[in-house]
Amino acid sequence: MKASVVIIGAGISGLSAAYRLDKLSTQAGIGLDITVVEKETQPGGTIRTEHIDGFVVETGPDCFFAEKPYAGMLVNELGMSDRLIGTNGRNQGTYVLWHNRLHRLPDGVVLMIPTRFAPFVTSTLFSLPGKIRMGMEIFVPRRTDGIDESLSEFTLRRFGREALDRIAEPLVAGVHAGDPDTMSVRSSFPRFVTMEQKYGSLIRGMLNARRVMREGSPSTPASMFMTMKGGLQEIIDALQRQSPGVSFRTGVQALAVEKSEGTYWVRLSDGGRISADGIVIAVPAYSAAGMLSPVSRELSDLLTSIPYVSTATVSLAYEKRGFGHPLKGFGFVVPRKENRHIMAATWTSSKFEYRTGDDAVLIRCFVGGAAHQDMVSRSDEEILDLVRRDIDDIMGVSPSPVMVRIKRWIKAMPQYTIGHEPRVKAIEQLAEGLGNVCLAGSAYHGIGISDCINSGNTAAQSVLKRLLC
Ligand SMILES: Cc1cc2nc3c(=O)[nH]c(=O)nc-3n(C[C@H](O)[C@H](O)[C@H](O)COP(=O)(O)OP(=O)(O)OC[C@H]3O[C@@H](n4cnc5c(N)ncnc54)[C@H](O)[C@@H]3O)c2cc1C
Repeated sequence: MKASVVIIGAGISGLSAAYRLDKLSTQAGIGLDITVVEKETQPGGTIRTEHIDGFVVETGPDCFFAEKPYAGMLVNELGMSDRLIGTNGRNQGTYVLWHNRLHRLPDGVVLMIPTRFAPFVTSTLFSLPGKIRMGMEIFVPRRTDGIDESLSEFTLRRFGREALDRIAEPLVAGVHAGDPDTMSVRSSFPRFVTMEQKYGSLIRGMLNARRVMREGSPSTPASMFMTMKGGLQEIIDALQRQSPGVSFRTGVQALAVEKSEGTYWVRLSDGGRISADGIVIAVPAYSAAGMLSPVSRELSDLLTSIPYVSTATVSLAYEKRGFGHPLKGFGFVVPRKENRHIMAATWTSSKFEYRTGDDAVLIRCFVGGAAHQDMVSRSDEEILDLVRRDIDDIMGVSPSPVMVRIKRWIKAMPQYTIGHEPRVKAIEQLAEGLGNVCLAGSAYHGIGISDCINSGNTAAQSVLKRLLC
């Protein structure tokens, strides 16, 4: 009889695990029954592209970070590298709202790390004392006590108040929907901690990384952010198509993982249950907690302690003619101190090609997150009204949108708060003790798409290894 593996959750983590397991088991000549169980009718989790009136609308993520290799490698493996696109080089630039005005984030600033002198000193975003304080970072001694600092503490200590309020906080809110006061810098930005330890300064570390990159590839650097011509959904569809040995059971929720007479069973919402020799649980941590409580209360409690926040994306399309804003850039972020409803806005039609026709523009706003949870529970009308007021006020445009799409993502964004690293270590140790049960997904080792793909790959390899033992 064939061994069976159940993968719970068909987000990018679960789908990557299924694809990898199918491929590795075929290569090894092992017949495996692989079933993916997904509670929604459509796989993809938070990755969802909608085609509305000729607009390509990403209701969840809109790109992946090219520096981490796993997404790019997967796209190549799926034979889709001709579908990859980077950001539109002609419109480079991000803005920060400060005192009601959009200031360009100086070129060369990587999160809060300035790496180019001229754009930084001429920037209107910081005061002169703020710039001096940020530049002094190279003289700030490295921390040696190994404490897990919050992003706020870390940024204040190394770069000062303006770097925190005007860049780190709004960029982090825009990307992680998080609160820098509680977010672990070690778990959310491990590279910064490593750089501090290695170079004694992030500015020095970043300048060194840039030099190495330039020497490695003197040609034009590729885009930092990549996506697919038709949206990220293309990756989801290809993963399904190219996993011929996998059965998909959508619209069915996994309720519990149970063990009887040495066999694991996954109990389902349709009344059925599936036996499994191996299980990959690729769902949000709180959902994994619910299904694992019959087999380990302790593991379930630890999983519940990973907090999540809710967000919503609001996509607005306008006629280009008479729009009244040049959209020269990729968008803007909004610091908490500006007291707005939106956390960030992406000027999608400027950032990526293939998102609209020539006669329209598309922008996408983020609301909710750690600082504005209440926004997500408002009605569509209220959200739209508040978002439009902010957009009109900040960008000075007031035409009526020709298309609106609001998508709420409830408890979809895990927060790596202080203590995340030991928490995940303890979770993984307990999961290991369960036998062939692996956890994958954005809750543990990175929330980005590339990290999630890596977590799916790792879970697949580990399940297969244990089956072969
Ligand atoms: C609005 C938004 C914007 C983002 N932007 C970016 C970006 O631009 N770039 C980037 O790299 N990352 C971005 N992210 C993060 C990234 O999209 C996610 O971290 C990643 O897609 C998570 O994938 P996952 O498979 O781990 O989890 P999910 O996508 O959450 O998938 C989990 C799946 O499990 C299913 N499930 C849950 N419980 C059960 C159950 N009991 N039984 C069966 N199925 C179940 C869910 O329905 C879901 O399909 C963004 C996230 C959000 C919410």
